[in-house]
Amino acid sequence: MDRRTMPALPDRIQRMLELASDLWWSWNPMPREVFRRLDYPLWRLTAHNPVKMLRMVSTEHLDRAARDPSFLAIYDAAVSAFDQARGAERTWWGNRFPQLSACSIAYFSAEFALHQSLPIYAGGLGVLAGDHCKESSDLGLPLIGVGFMYPMGYFRQKISPDGAQIELYRRLDYDDVAVERVIDPDGKPGRISVPLAHGTVEVAVWQVQLGGVKLLLLDTDLPENAAWDRELSSRLYVVERETRLRQEIVLGIGGVRALRLLGHNPTVWHLNEGHTSFVVIERIREVVATGGSFLEALRQVRSNTVFTTHTPIPAGHDTFPFHMVDSQLARFWETAGERRNTFLALGSHDGDESSFNMTAVALRGSAAINAVSRRHQQVTSRMWASFWPGVPDHERPIGSVTNGIHVPTWIAAAMADLFDRWLGPDWTLHHDDPDFWGRAASIPDQEIWAVRQLLRQNLLEFARERSRHAWRDGEASCSQVVASGTLLDPLALTIGYARRFTEYKRPELIFHDRDRLARILHAPRRPVQIVFAGKAHPADETGKRPLQRIYKDAMDPKFGGRIAFVEDYDLHVAHLFVQGCDVWLNTPREPMEASGTSGMKASINGVLHLSVADGWWPEAYSGSNGWLIDAPAEAGDAAQADALYRLLEEKIVPAFYERDPMGLPRRWIEMIKGAIGTVAPHFSARRMVKEYTERAYVPMANRALSLPPG
Ligand SMILES: *Cc1c(COP(=O)(O)O)cnc(C)c1O
Repeated sequence: MDRRTMPALPDRIQRMLELASDLWWSWNPMPREVFRRLDYPLWRLTAHNPVKMLRMVSTEHLDRAARDPSFLAIYDAAVSAFDQARGAERTWWGNRFPQLSACSIAYFSAEFALHQSLPIYAGGLGVLAGDHCKESSDLGLPLIGVGFMYPMGYFRQKISPDGAQIELYRRLDYDDVAVERVIDPDGKPGRISVPLAHGTVEVAVWQVQLGGVKLLLLDTDLPENAAWDRELSSRLYVVERETRLRQEIVLGIGGVRALRLLGHNPTVWHLNEGHTSFVVIERIREVVATGGSFLEALRQVRSNTVFTTHTPIPAGHDTFPFHMVDSQLARFWETAGERRNTFLALGSHDGDESSFNMTAVALRGSAAINAVSRRHQQVTSRMWASFWPGVPDHERPIGSVTNGIHVPTWIAAAMADLFDRWLGPDWTLHHDDPDFWGRAASIPDQEIWAVRQLLRQNLLEFARERSRHAWRDGEASCSQVVASGTLLDPLALTIGYARRFTEYKRPELIFHDRDRLARILHAPRRPVQIVFAGKAHPADETGKRPLQRIYKDAMDPKFGGRIAFVEDYDLHVAHLFVQGCDVWLNTPREPMEASGTSGMKASINGVLHLSVADGWWPEAYSGSNGWLIDAPAEAGDAAQADALYRLLEEKIVPAFYERDPMGLPRRWIEMIKGAIGTVAPHFSARRMVKEYTERAYVPMANRALSLPPG
């Protein structure tokens, strides 16, 4: 963001820009309220982007705010909370590990989902990385994220009248988002370079501030780079192998160099998924360049590297032909001496002579390896068994740290208000303590139910207003107006399904028997409706086909407008969905969902999870905090669909519509309390980040400082 383009701020509210420039505002209610109050229509118009707001807001609005005592009270409170968060000395980390005050943790990921204004994410992996950073900020961890800038971002989705996904790319205007150029120690804009086959690529370094945590973003879109190199950082997950490889080299090798440029010497290095494995290669090269042996270098690098794997299917792991890696890194090897074959061998797997496997590099280069749920840990351990010949399943060094979500980010404001009032205003500090949630029993049923009704209405109003705009602007046919949710009923039981559209997630399971589904949706006085959202990767034809069929079903009179598809799924839409539905549907093909996190976001908002036994759900399901589709996967789609329909017909719909004389569904509300009380503590990012800290970061940091591991 370029400060020169900002209008002058009145002195009294001078720090608005600072508040807007740190994404800390996005998960804290006070600063959010400041921007909402400043100019509510503009807040809506900019899709909650205060940086853009401050560029557009009128001087009258600013002056009025600067004289309005009630605005100033909130502003002062927000600024003081901000100062406290940024300067925090008494954090969880600081209190627990005073000996590690000089340590830092580098966290690498190919995507980070922080806010919808910064479209540098595609899905769940990015949300996990963003939530990890935000929680690290709340806990006071000295964490630095490293990722990619992607000036073209991920695409915006439109759906054509026949249900085909249309991908629109819009160039990100850096002035409109909370990113800033990194300034190097010489006071110049931060730059590093990475040697690739056809020449050296220059990389600019940007930063995003998240309270106490900083995220560095690499960007190759510089005029001095060749056109094909400028393109490198433009989009997420390009399919073409050579470009993808070059991206990952820039991320791994360039990321280490960016940290070095800024004088960082991280104590622990965390690799989030195999896309980031070139970090290992660059760090080994660093040690070898100072005269160490390759094996000594590998031992050193391993000793403080953590690797989290997310992919339970072999095809999901990135591989590249050896010759491609060899030639792209030809100029890198020059500085690594004679050892290029040794380096390349880090990527070999199962005697496959032709491909360099990114996960193999990370497995060889990390002393702490983990999967993201217990079920995924078993699958992962079998999948990579050849790395530990003769070692039985349960003894292979692969642990499990189940994913979690950043509760302050995902909780609805109305639900957070309820917790403030009934659990105490400091509930966010204790939300990973299971005993603390015993207090939730005291929340009056009618208050919970009022919040649930409100959140469902927010979602439906959002869908309706979008359709209205599209209709008014001549961008939607009559059928599309129906498909986008105009006929949804604000009081009907609402099932939500929103995530990346891809074959293994089986979005169409609920359509297995269309007549039975139609009967469920149209039951007299007990209507049910389903809202869908999600993008298919531009190259994923098997993901686009179900999307198109579901969209056509949403237009089909057979379902009477009780099925809707909301376009352009992003973090904003995700918030409305996981907060506004009544039931959250999850039907992946087992065991392909490593963890899944959208059901966690739903559960903490009282949206009940309805899922097959995959990913995180077997760890969480208690019998009274949601439902388990318990037909075994081996029984096939028909049996699982039948189990799903039976749950809906016999359990879910009756419980939702069973009302007492006050109009309250008491059994349902009981389950809501069960869902919140079990999921919020155990599946929060707070629990997850503490687990990474205690099991990996701290033992590694202590070892690095030659302190006892505990
Ligand atoms: C949480 C989230 C996901 C992940 O959803 P899963 O059901 O775990 O696959 C994907 N995209 C967005 C925008 C999300 O917020």
